[in-house]
Amino acid sequence: MKKFEYFSPTRIVFGEEKLQEVANFVPPVEKILVVTGRSSSKKSGALDLLKASLKEKTLFIFDEVEENPGIETVNKGTRIAREEKVGLIIGLGGGSPMDAAKCIALLATNDGVMENYLGGDKDAYSPLPIIAIPTTAGTGSEVTQHAVITMGSHKKGYSNTGLFPKVAVLDPTLTLSMPPEITVNTGVDALTHSIEGYLSTLATPESDNVAVEAIRIIKKELPKVAQDGRNLEARSRMLYASMLGGLVISRTRTIILHALGYPLTTFYGVPHGRANGAMLPWAFEFLGRDVGGQSFEPLQEKISSITQIFGDINEFINNLGISTKLSDYGITQNDIPRFIKDVWGRRNLGVTPKEVKREDIENIYKRAL
Ligand code: NAP
Ligand code: FE
Repeated sequence: MKKFEYFSPTRIVFGEEKLQEVANFVPPVEKILVVTGRSSSKKSGALDLLKASLKEKTLFIFDEVEENPGIETVNKGTRIAREEKVGLIIGLGGGSPMDAAKCIALLATNDGVMENYLGGDKDAYSPLPIIAIPTTAGTGSEVTQHAVITMGSHKKGYSNTGLFPKVAVLDPTLTLSMPPEITVNTGVDALTHSIEGYLSTLATPESDNVAVEAIRIIKKELPKVAQDGRNLEARSRMLYASMLGGLVISRTRTIILHALGYPLTTFYGVPHGRANGAMLPWAFEFLGRDVGGQSFEPLQEKISSITQIFGDINEFINNLGISTKLSDYGITQNDIPRFIKDVWGRRNLGVTPKEVKREDIENIYKRAL
């Protein structure tokens, strides 16, 4: 059997209305910085519930995290954390606020700015403790050591075992307020984490089981929540499955598909999960082709297992209202060179179970146009 490591230090608390109990899970600190998005956590009432639960503490609220958060946002939030000397960071929202919260926690105990760690080679001391409270069912960031931050027009991942949240509070009622489009986009992100993790060269027997469980749940529940966002049971299962997807990629990382999706987001503003959905059939087709003689033997078997679960994966994605034709997003042939430049050299390619050449990336995008 191949070598592997298993490290999942996050305490997972799952259940309806668990947000109201957050005070029971926080470490003994006085000052806390809450990092959240610009509006949804206020509109849905989640931020008020959090404040009420932590009324004994001194709270600072940083509510400026945009989608696909940029380094400036992280640096701005960091100033509050440093000036107020907070002892805990809470990320409340989708992957964007949770990832920003993680980076702020890192910079609060380290000097410099996010650029020094993302692109640079600075080693970091232990970040502040983090509590992650997802309001989307997608990224699984609440149980991973990863954060994705945008630098200029490039999305960059940063991983550090210190970024595993101390506690992940998963309250499915917080996901009820997602409109259909965000529900679908984030649900497809969770699906791609599970599929990519299953196919990654870092996959382990344990992560494979978790990945297949997540894939099956999402196949069944995502069409339901896309139809009826008030279905709390289906919402709960989606939140559970997206968390499983997070556990998977905490071990396996993501592979070529996430790398192919990033330029759609940075150059065309396609939401993260939707971008992955648009590229899913094309990446899948590439991986399924000519696998004979490749070093990673189970690939063919795994591709067939996924095909058995889905039938036509392109149809599944299209039925969710996601186009898998890049021209529908305004993307043209002329974009391909800068897309390739963005994808090439990403560490995702190193864990993809098949050698990826520059011309492969070009061909995948051309087929997807
Ligand atoms: P997001 O960017 O956090 O949020 C997308 C939109 O959904 C925002 O407009 C947000 O509004 C809204 N929203 C969030 N929760 C809502 C709710 N309950 N009701 C109504 N609206 C709600 O979306 P995301 O897909 O969860 O996160 C994407 C980010 O995570 C990307 O940057 C991606 O690269 C990253 N990511 C990270 C990992 C990881 O392992 N760390 C894995 C995959 C992806 P507000 O802004 O007003 O809150
Ligand atoms: Fe993702």
